[in-house]
Amino acid sequence: MDYALAKRSKLAEVRAGRVSVDEVCDADPYLLRAAQFHGLGSEQACPVCRKEQVTLVSWIFGKSLGRASGSARTPAEITRLAARTGEFSVHVVEVCRTCRWNHLIRSYVAGLVPAAEPHRRAAK
Ligand SMILES: [Zn+2]
Repeated sequence: MDYALAKRSKLAEVRAGRVSVDEVCDADPYLLRAAQFHGLGSEQACPVCRKEQVTLVSWIFGKSLGRASGSARTPAEITRLAARTGEFSVHVVEVCRTCRWNHLIRSYVAGLVPAAEPHRRAAK
């Protein structure tokens, strides 16, 4: 999945008036709060309102995380978790706290690959 391409096409739809700004600027209070407390500032201006730089929020998912799965974490926390837990996935969402634009920009796998199962990753 090319997230950058998906984002460009979404923005093009908005600019062309085929999709309303309200439809893409729909960050819920939970996401906005996560941006405030766990977000990482960026240099990139919001592509919709250009009033502020987007904040990057990383969500983590995975069985190895237990109850932490589905929560937002700072990059430092993710680095710490990755050093001591099994594989989990990280989804990075950019959020504008002014107009509530939000979009998944990348996802990746972090955490330890079990040494006893070196073939697991290749088997996927
Ligand atoms: Zn914005």
